[in-house]
Amino acid sequence: MPELPEVTVIAEDVRSLAAGKEVTRAAIFRDDVSNAGVEGFGEKLVGKTLKGTGRRGKIITLDFGDYVGVVHLVISGRVLRLPEWREPDKIHTAVVEFDGGEPLVLAFTRLWLGYFDLYDPDRVDDHPLLKRLGPDPFSEEFTPEYLRYVFRRKAAIKGLLLDQSVVSGLGNIYVDEVLFEAKVHPTRKANTLTPEEIEAIHSATRDILGRAIEARGTTFDSYHDAFGETGKFQHQLKVFTHAGEPCPVCGTGIHKLRVAGRGTHVCPVCQPTD
Ligand SMILES: [Zn+2]
Repeated sequence: MPELPEVTVIAEDVRSLAAGKEVTRAAIFRDDVSNAGVEGFGEKLVGKTLKGTGRRGKIITLDFGDYVGVVHLVISGRVLRLPEWREPDKIHTAVVEFDGGEPLVLAFTRLWLGYFDLYDPDRVDDHPLLKRLGPDPFSEEFTPEYLRYVFRRKAAIKGLLLDQSVVSGLGNIYVDEVLFEAKVHPTRKANTLTPEEIEAIHSATRDILGRAIEARGTTFDSYHDAFGETGKFQHQLKVFTHAGEPCPVCGTGIHKLRVAGRGTHVCPVCQPTD
């Protein structure tokens, strides 16, 4: 599932490919791919120019002036550049063609669980997913003080970091890496963390996400950028996907367990449970 770094890369790729270009055709596979429906999707987008792109948590935003595209790729969605127009189908769930020089056709794939909604710019904060998003890890609101406040709860730290209303953009891969870097066990109750541990989680979050964006994301299963290239951060992962291998810090075998319903990777020595 694309997390903050992968969504950042895809949003920037779409901007570099399509910003300043006008939509000449746009279609979706089924009504449930967009709040605009099959009829409205093309009607609303054709003739609009893509002014820019952004990211909110793990959601891509596309600024079409009168409308903002809110794209959630969820599990295995991708943005693909197609050689020519094709009608949407089960895989190519939303297809948008732009003009200008050689035609540009982008497919937003596998949006069965995700979507490509169109919102009025002044209503976009009402989107059900966007209105519950917590601070972005690169925003000014994301401070150690903020984390101390949200971590006063007696819940496993991993579950809280995965909760998009607490911090937006983190998912299973980066939470495991952040907690390893901060030397905090994922099952620790948030209200037992010391100020130093909270500080370490704060700085590891920004450090790891920043390096992952530089490496253009992590390709672990299906993720590719909009140019069809894989990310490179999987080569820098220290615990995720490394179950049974030696910890890069102390040499102990990495354990895999389930926390918050998700496969979780820890070093039992570097990340003690108490
Ligand atoms: Zn270790």
